[in-house]
Amino acid sequence: MYDAIVVGLGPAGAVAAAELARAGLSVLGLEWKAMPRYKVCGGALSARTDRLLEPDYHSVVEETIHRVRFQFAGTGAFEFSSPEPIAYMVMRDRFDAYLVQKARDTGAVVRQNERAVRVCEYTDRVEVETQQGRYRSKVIVGADGANSLVARMLFPGRRGRVLGALEGEVLLNGATSSLGAGAIVLDLGVVAGGYGWVFPKEGRLSVGVAGLQGRHHNPRSAYQEFVRTESALDGLIVPNGLGHPIPLYGGKAAERLSLTTSRSLLVGDAAHLVDPVLGEGIYYAMLSGRMAARTAADYLKGLTPGLQAYDAQVASEFYPEFRAAARMAWALYTFPRLVHEALSRRPDVLHLYADILKGRTTYKSLVATMRNRLQSFIARAIRDRAASAFSRGCSGRN
Ligand SMILES: Cc1cc2nc3c(=O)[nH]c(=O)nc-3n(C[C@H](O)[C@H](O)[C@H](O)COP(=O)(O)OP(=O)(O)OC[C@H]3O[C@@H](n4cnc5c(N)ncnc54)[C@H](O)[C@@H]3O)c2cc1C
Repeated sequence: MYDAIVVGLGPAGAVAAAELARAGLSVLGLEWKAMPRYKVCGGALSARTDRLLEPDYHSVVEETIHRVRFQFAGTGAFEFSSPEPIAYMVMRDRFDAYLVQKARDTGAVVRQNERAVRVCEYTDRVEVETQQGRYRSKVIVGADGANSLVARMLFPGRRGRVLGALEGEVLLNGATSSLGAGAIVLDLGVVAGGYGWVFPKEGRLSVGVAGLQGRHHNPRSAYQEFVRTESALDGLIVPNGLGHPIPLYGGKAAERLSLTTSRSLLVGDAAHLVDPVLGEGIYYAMLSGRMAARTAADYLKGLTPGLQAYDAQVASEFYPEFRAAARMAWALYTFPRLVHEALSRRPDVLHLYADILKGRTTYKSLVATMRNRLQSFIARAIRDRAASAFSRGCSGRN
């Protein structure tokens, strides 16, 4: 019997397995695929990842991002730049393999090419059946992504918003792109309720579209239109995109659904911990993996009576952020053209947003700042109107 079994060794599971092993517990990590494996993902890590991982993760970073080209359906392009890194680009095969190796180095037993097919929770243990065998543990961490088996079997009735995204890998084969070093493209006009992107990696560009508000029913046609018109892809051979779901934060209704049972915890995509503005999930997957592992370790060492501390931590650290982000996403994707125009005139707002990605501020405080600015803008407009009406009235009386 293991202390803990972690199902799925993407960023959430690999970080959880490493953290549990570091706490001196016996851990089995089960992964369906063999690492390194390709994963449909933009592979953009926000710069705050520096606060979460050991510095040697930079060995798998393929590009450091300082510049963002914003545009609307290929038009109205303007650039935002930052002297400090905004994001780091990784290919998920190398990044995830790096994290799994860390888990192994810390002492976790890793079984790859082994898919969990059944999970049962009993009062005194959890049992996981795979195509190769059966394993028992005191606690299980469900880190098996957007279509989580653990969520379906141990958290019946848990549902959330799952939206479609597509991505393709454009090999440069010695060709160059007009994009230039250290830059990405974000296009708010190519897919209803979402955006298109071009992310540079070593010798390739990752290109994709995601409809984060679920308004575009055919992301494939949006992808084709984007790759046909995007200037950074001129002259390059662009493959068809591969699809994968993004399990977004599901709002207050989802917040009421627990992420723990007596012996199980859900993390990362399996728990729908994805930010609704950009669809950023890797950072939250790793952070939730670490939080869940620490809660499980305290429980297994007899320091706490149960696993609810993880629910409380997600509720206090993630959900207020996601709520603020959801408000911002609504404005962004309901009025994308207006927002694009406003941002081109007020790039200082983008600096504030970049501070979230750098870990210097939060969605909550950015939304509060924006609200205050909007209120003083409206107050100023009302004052100006009143003043001009008053002076018109005075000149009329003279
Ligand atoms: C097109 C697209 C682009 C994206 N771009 C970005 C981006 O640029 N930046 C960002 O931060 N996020 C991005 N995301 C989101 C990001 O990919 C996820 O949020 C992140 O991968 C979640 O990590 P995870 O460990 O929870 O799950 P995953 O990374 O999905 O890992 C789950 C693991 O579990 C394994 N597994 C599944 N079922 C089983 C089973 N039954 N038994 C054993 N193993 C199993 C899988 O093989 C997989 O390795 C993107 C998503 C999509 C679809």
